[in-house]
Amino acid sequence: MTELSLTLSERQTADFEMIANGGFAPLTGFQGSEDWKRVCEDMRLATADGYWPIPITLPTDLECEVGDVVELAADDGKALGRITVEEIFERDVRKEAELVYGTTDEAHPGVAAIYEEGNRCLAGPIDVDALPNHEEAFMRRYLTPEQSRKEFADRGWKKIVAFQTRNPIHRAHEYLTKAALETCDGLFIHPLIGKTKAGDIPADVRMRCYEVLMENYYPADRVILGVKPAKMHYAGPREAVLHAIIRRNYGATHFIVGRDHAGAGDYYGTYDAQKIFDDIDIEELGIEPLMFEHTFWCNECEGLASGKTCPHDQDAHLFLSGTKVREMLGNGERPPEEFSRAEVADILIDAYKED
Ligand SMILES: [Zn+2]
Repeated sequence: MTELSLTLSERQTADFEMIANGGFAPLTGFQGSEDWKRVCEDMRLATADGYWPIPITLPTDLECEVGDVVELAADDGKALGRITVEEIFERDVRKEAELVYGTTDEAHPGVAAIYEEGNRCLAGPIDVDALPNHEEAFMRRYLTPEQSRKEFADRGWKKIVAFQTRNPIHRAHEYLTKAALETCDGLFIHPLIGKTKAGDIPADVRMRCYEVLMENYYPADRVILGVKPAKMHYAGPREAVLHAIIRRNYGATHFIVGRDHAGAGDYYGTYDAQKIFDDIDIEELGIEPLMFEHTFWCNECEGLASGKTCPHDQDAHLFLSGTKVREMLGNGERPPEEFSRAEVADILIDAYKED
């Protein structure tokens, strides 16, 4: 009998890693039809307790049968382990798109990705021999959930707030992470290094931005910078819940949910990713979301502020569109200090030159 083997896509490799390193606990493998259905319809697992907002499935055309063991390799060919096939099933990607992403529009990057993957999925538990490789810059910061929990405990932190990001941290984000840290023991900056959409800033560039901020503007004994090897789904509210569950697994007690969290285009309302937590039992979820409004520099306040803390009208607020910021950086020009730290701006300017 020939050995069955499957090379995972970049997205599937990221899912394998998150299951393997405990970031997706309580998942121990790729989900089957019962879980798929319950996750789509009720945002819950069928085969275990707890919330789960986005299906984690293994779509493939590989010919195999229930009971087969399939060797799994990362997208770069590295042998990772294997899956014992417990079920082969057809998911309905349009239903998944509608229920999880709230749209069947194939222009949505998360929806496009599942349409491309197709319906047929293998499900079953995985055995893990190795984790995927990452660039050195990331591995230096790599912590599994077990390791981050230990780091927090070693520092004596009890209240830990986690911050998800896939963008460089500008002043507004620095402000809200620090506002959260004021009432917590530690801050866990946890950028996503997995697959993002075209046009997003590459992870290695972002990593340099985070490091320069850590060195110059964050207290070293109160902040840990990690990396999260997951992919983006751009599922907005549902993904905010997944991001919270992942950070719970890494040992955080609180999680920052900003405006437009994990969204794409204008598929979701500005605060939809916060409202979804209204219908969730936070105790059962095991991590508390901290909701933040849009933050900005206010010339009258002479500081960073939000609609909650600033009484002035928009004329007093510094506003730069994403397009404007990209244009400035592309021209080698630093955005105002009130918008972005010079050190961060310089890294981004250099990155644009390399393009
Ligand atoms: Zn103000």
